Amino acid sequence: MTTNKGSLVLYPDEMLNKICEPVGELTEEVQEFASNLIVTMYQFGALGIAAPQMGKPIRMLAINALEPISPENKNGDKRKAILFVNPEITETSGVKVKSQEACLSIPGIMVNLSCRYNNIIVHATDEYGKGFTTQLNGQDAVAFQHEMNHLDGVTLLDIVGKVQKKLVLKQYKRSMTKWVTSRVMPQV
Ligand SMILES: [Zn+2]
Repeated sequence: MTTNKGSLVLYPDEMLNKICEPVGELTEEVQEFASNLIVTMYQFGALGIAAPQMGKPIRMLAINALEPISPENKNGDKRKAILFVNPEITETSGVKVKSQEACLSIPGIMVNLSCRYNNIIVHATDEYGKGFTTQLNGQDAVAFQHEMNHLDGVTLLDIVGKVQKKLVLKQYKRSMTKWVTSRVMPQV
């Protein structure tokens, strides 16, 4: 699989089933990859993205978070990209929520899950090695857990039930045929 700037790894590429390695030295190359990750997330209008989806099996992900919303944000754009290097979930609320999730690596499908925690506390570093701890709630928490799964080689198709998986795979095949024909990536 090529790792060109902005290119996405698509299911069933084996890259998506790799357990990603911790990020070591934060070289310029790693930092450049981090900004490509965010640019690509924006390009596709996604709520999150993980490094293996761009061909690198390393523990790095980004989410386009609703929170924290800065009070001085006046342009109406309430979302903010947060990059996580070597992230770990340190705490979860006991409450799980129902979620409807799409995936950049499986374009054109949507699955229903009920395994995500509604509130999580996450520890990570940024691309310069500065550690931080943050609480994520609701949609942000769901997006983070989705991306965290990617770092452990787990896609939506590995966690949906058998019946839903069958339906979703059918849908995916149809959507890929359309995509190849029209060359238009479905919006997720
Ligand atoms: Zn995904």
